[in-house]
Amino acid sequence: MAGIVIDMFLNLKESSVAGINARVDENVVFPIHRNANSARVLFGGCWNNSGRQIVRNSIVKASQNSSNRSDALKATRQRRPQNVEGDFFVDHTCIDCDTCRWMAPTIFSQVDEQAAVVKQPSCKEERVKALQALLSCPTSSIHTENAPLDILQVQKTFPIPINEQRFPGVYHCGYHSEKSYGGASYIIVHPEGNILIDSPRFTERLAHNIDMLGGARYMFLTHKDDVADHEKWSKRLKCTRILHEKDVEVSTADVEIKLGGSGPWSLGNDFELIHTPGHTEGCVSLLYKPLKILCAGDHLTIWGSELSIVEKFNRCSVPMQLNSVRKLLDEDFEWILPGHGRRVEFKDIKEKNSALEAFLASREQPQIQSS
Ligand SMILES: [Zn+2]
Repeated sequence: MAGIVIDMFLNLKESSVAGINARVDENVVFPIHRNANSARVLFGGCWNNSGRQIVRNSIVKASQNSSNRSDALKATRQRRPQNVEGDFFVDHTCIDCDTCRWMAPTIFSQVDEQAAVVKQPSCKEERVKALQALLSCPTSSIHTENAPLDILQVQKTFPIPINEQRFPGVYHCGYHSEKSYGGASYIIVHPEGNILIDSPRFTERLAHNIDMLGGARYMFLTHKDDVADHEKWSKRLKCTRILHEKDVEVSTADVEIKLGGSGPWSLGNDFELIHTPGHTEGCVSLLYKPLKILCAGDHLTIWGSELSIVEKFNRCSVPMQLNSVRKLLDEDFEWILPGHGRRVEFKDIKEKNSALEAFLASREQPQIQSS
């Protein structure tokens, strides 16, 4: 497929709006920050499996004086009664983003529309996974009763290899950010320069670990929702950010490469950037051709147990998003690494196309109206 080769020097420009990093969100009640003991001020309204608004902040809003507010905040940090007894627990601030459940599926489950510990870790592997989930929770809603003395060791496990045998050099960054609605980010290690895909929560610990992998040459942002701490990462790693111009907002105005038009664009020989608009107008998916992996952002995922475009979170056009799914029939990939939802694995391209065609056909069926 003919493409446009990105010349990173053509589009490079000086940062023009440094310091502006505001995100207007009607659901943000308080500025997002962490206090000395890492308790978060809460926000509501983001990706979660039930699609409901998280209303825990209303408890805090309702408290008029600071002492009541402090008590209300503490209450949200208490153990949910749905957790099994033991060291690990989830508090009431969980936004049901699903991250802990796919990172440590034997430990966490959904109970009453939020995550809960349904089994305490019983071996080292389970404990490491539970602590990785604790560190990756975008709302810091997972805790242990006893200080985890092995937490420093677990911090060193990030970024986490996705499958060392099958996908060498492809990692899940962990440290999900509430500013990216809890979305997953990845890093691909490549001889021509590593690519960080979407933005994890900024922590110096993760930045150090990324340095150990060779840093990042590019930070590819799939779309405007999952940009989180892009500015901090860009400064720390000195990477070149890439985002489609249709998704550029005030906070991303100084992104170095703004993709225009409908592509596709090549990034070296091994990566193709495919315009997949619909969830947002500027959604772009990254195809890592040698390993047949598609990093799809919020375009396509497994949601529940099915292939989905997660229509309830569509921010632009559902028909456009479905057309972008159809476009993927021409692409050679067997894995989808999404921003939200579960990873998708196909046996081969034939199975991938059968699944996509079945999904599209199901969307073309007339909707049955109940009387
Ligand atoms: Zn999104």
